[in-house]
Amino acid sequence: MIGIDLGTTNSLVAVVDGGIALVLADAEGRRLVPSVVHIPKNSSGGVLVGVPAKRSAHLAPATTFASMKRFMGRRSSEITAADQQNNAWQWELHGNAPAAVHTPHGPMLPEELAAEILKHLVSIANTRLDTQVTRAVITVPAYFNDSQRQATQRAGELAGLKVERIINEPTAAALAYGIDKLHTQAKIAVFDLGGGTFDISILQLQDGIFKVLSTSGDTQLGGDDIDNSIIHWIRGKIIELEPEFGFTPEIHQRIRSAAEEAKIRLSVDESAHLVFPFLTPDFSFECELSRAQLNDLARPTIRRTQSHCQRAMMDAGLEPTDLDQVILVGGQTRMPLVREWVNEVFGCREFEESHGSLRVGANPHKASGPRLNTSTNPDEAVALGAAIQAAILSGALKNVILMDVTPLSLGIETFGGLMNVIIPRNTTIPVKAGEMFTNALDYQKSMLIRILQGEREKAQDNWELGQLTIDFEPMLKATARVGVQFEIDSNGVLRVLARDTLTQVDKIVEIRSAVDVDDLAVQEMVESSVEHAFSDLAHRQWVEATLRAQQTLDAIRNGLTDYGDQLTDEETLSIKDNINQTLAILASGNTESGTGPLRDLKVALDSLDEASLPLADRMMEAISEQFLRDQGLIG
Ligand code: AMP
Repeated sequence: MIGIDLGTTNSLVAVVDGGIALVLADAEGRRLVPSVVHIPKNSSGGVLVGVPAKRSAHLAPATTFASMKRFMGRRSSEITAADQQNNAWQWELHGNAPAAVHTPHGPMLPEELAAEILKHLVSIANTRLDTQVTRAVITVPAYFNDSQRQATQRAGELAGLKVERIINEPTAAALAYGIDKLHTQAKIAVFDLGGGTFDISILQLQDGIFKVLSTSGDTQLGGDDIDNSIIHWIRGKIIELEPEFGFTPEIHQRIRSAAEEAKIRLSVDESAHLVFPFLTPDFSFECELSRAQLNDLARPTIRRTQSHCQRAMMDAGLEPTDLDQVILVGGQTRMPLVREWVNEVFGCREFEESHGSLRVGANPHKASGPRLNTSTNPDEAVALGAAIQAAILSGALKNVILMDVTPLSLGIETFGGLMNVIIPRNTTIPVKAGEMFTNALDYQKSMLIRILQGEREKAQDNWELGQLTIDFEPMLKATARVGVQFEIDSNGVLRVLARDTLTQVDKIVEIRSAVDVDDLAVQEMVESSVEHAFSDLAHRQWVEATLRAQQTLDAIRNGLTDYGDQLTDEETLSIKDNINQTLAILASGNTESGTGPLRDLKVALDSLDEASLPLADRMMEAISEQFLRDQGLIG
């Protein structure tokens, strides 16, 4: 079984051979396969993948497809104007249908193009291992949602592979890092900034168990964004000289390649010279980009990683000083500014700059904090980890267990439109959890279960992953019993089961449908839950208090009907006054901002309790009397 890192920029295939994980090279000795696919116009020409495809990007940008991972499992409506502007190919976008690109072979989905890359990787493995590979572990960013994971799995199947497991990239990187340190105990952060995605994971390694404590990230943040800032800067410089300059897709592609090349060179050099001979027959252009200028262009992108790091640390319940290591993964972490930034965010010790690149070394100013680990090859760690996971699954590697976590909370909508969390975010998977629910109304015949994912208190602010309806015998309010169980398997696939405990009838849904929200929303979800924490909490408290108030009112009204004639007029009047006062507060509703109505409601309920004491006494007396009569103790 092989391990595959299907990257935004580059893809790799690795295997564990004789207990050692290694990346397999192609016939030319290259281990990184550019994640680029060229579909030739002439149908007799074969599809090109990797380096030859990357070369054709200049000649035929409209039929050469790169960074397809960014678009896997996304819908047409999620492709932004910038996505369309930054690429030379044509999109095939139709309403809510999956986003496809226009190719000479007709519309193709990103996963179909990814399948071509996977086929190429499999052919490398077949040649190197001299066998027919059929099974693989493929990695995805931790923050890939269900539909992106499904698309990855489909890509594998289209390439003729049985995808045994989809694992998270940072987790894979941690496996690669920790595999030879199985007897140590360590807490590590994996900071993974690749071409298109950013992931941060906090893991604990102990006695061969890799436990993911938390994870966070952004599937739309990476080196490509820095390239786009450089492209924007170069285009601005050209327009300064030639205000009417027309940028064709071919010219855009040339600028893109030069921008990325300059960025990579500036990880070592202080300055890069960019030359564009004959952009048009009578216009050539050249300019100088310094590392300081690049840093200014890149800083806004790099800063976007900070909130995710803080969130992941908070979810893991750790301080930076609790960490032993921060492992850098992903090609973009070779950039000195990224390393300085990680150092700053995590307060790393033993960090110094040397020959333009940053190296781990003694720094007398830092005595505590984690160590910045640059020893793992950032390009290869993920593929190596995938190969290690493949070896664990096939039984070739023993005494190693990998425990991953859910990135967002899962639950169902409950009374009052609230989110009832069943599996909280950052729970280790595989996991099974359940809760019992009941009917809200008398003689209700069925219950609609809305399956939600997200961090907000109000159901409507979370994403609906699916629904199921469970039927039951009509009965009085709060008497039906419906058990709801959520189960997430090791691939992160969710199965929801609902059971009417009376009839034992089950309804099951497997969540394979797309999460119909764009990926940025994942990040926004987490951020908005922090931003709205107070108002969300106030809302939850209000709804819960209202539900409790309704129950109290119902009980008192029933009591009045049955025992009201045993009260004095004064007592009845006082209860009714208090009921009206409570109803008035309930009718005035809650305000998002203040806790005033909640306080008023509490005061009113206390007062209602007080006023209903004589009624409660009568009810208790009646119940006791009935009990004694039932026992034959009184006549
Ligand atoms: P990955 O997705 O991990 O393959 O990372 C690819 C990203 O890393 C691309 O945006 C590359 O431009 C970037 N990258 C690769 N090498 C370097 C380097 N030496 N300095 C800066 N960025 C790099």
